[in-house]
Amino acid sequence: MVAAILLVVGVIAGARAALRRRTRRRVAESSAALEMLGRLNHRFEEAVAPLPPISFSFEVRLDSKPKFDAFDLGRRFREEVLQREQAIVEQMDVRRQVLRHYLDYEARVGAEALPRLGRSERADVAKTRFDAVEEQLFTEILLERPTPQARIVGVARYTSPQGRNSYEKSYIWGFDDLRQELGLAREDRERRSTTQFLRDRERSLLTPKIRIDVLQRDGRRCRACGATADDATLHIDHIIPISRGGLTEMSNLQVLCQSCNLGKSNRFVG
Ligand SMILES: [Zn+2]
Repeated sequence: MVAAILLVVGVIAGARAALRRRTRRRVAESSAALEMLGRLNHRFEEAVAPLPPISFSFEVRLDSKPKFDAFDLGRRFREEVLQREQAIVEQMDVRRQVLRHYLDYEARVGAEALPRLGRSERADVAKTRFDAVEEQLFTEILLERPTPQARIVGVARYTSPQGRNSYEKSYIWGFDDLRQELGLAREDRERRSTTQFLRDRERSLLTPKIRIDVLQRDGRRCRACGATADDATLHIDHIIPISRGGLTEMSNLQVLCQSCNLGKSNRFVG
């Protein structure tokens, strides 16, 4: 009895599935929206096909437990990204290109296929049923938005002498980590080159004219020990070093003899 009921239920379910398949086929054949979407898919599917994740891995073996404990995987990740920056940027550009194609596809779908939804019909499928199935099929065959992926695996290991104990730590970074790290690296580099530029400019401002002015003002003597050019080599010194933001202007310059100047180094001395 139970078996018979199950059989009946099964037959009905099978018949429903067959009916649903037939309806879907009929709608697919007659829908102007689906026809247009199919054409767009055909044109774009290659250009918007998802690419494999950007991936690389690194492994570091430490030779002591304290080194292992102190090892900073995140910092190493940063260095690896910097080293591979060119290649990573190229891979990201390709993925950005794919995404751009997809946006183009989406715009075309919105302009050419979507407006045709609900506009088609056929005699052997009820209109409301037709529209519902059409919408369903439309979302099913819409090409998926390619999401850029990355998978960077970092591993640090330490094995004690004679292999008694093994330690391992690892981390996996994704696309957003990678993008963020690249951005930081770029900012860092720009900041460094700006700083370098400012320093070079300050050095270039130390012209023969300003050297002579400083020598005259300071009486051609070391301001620290009073040595003259007869006793020692005289230098023009930045009181606040350029590396600390000191400028090349009279108020920040002084005459020092070589030994006072070298003794001063980068420290602030009056
Ligand atoms: Zn001196």
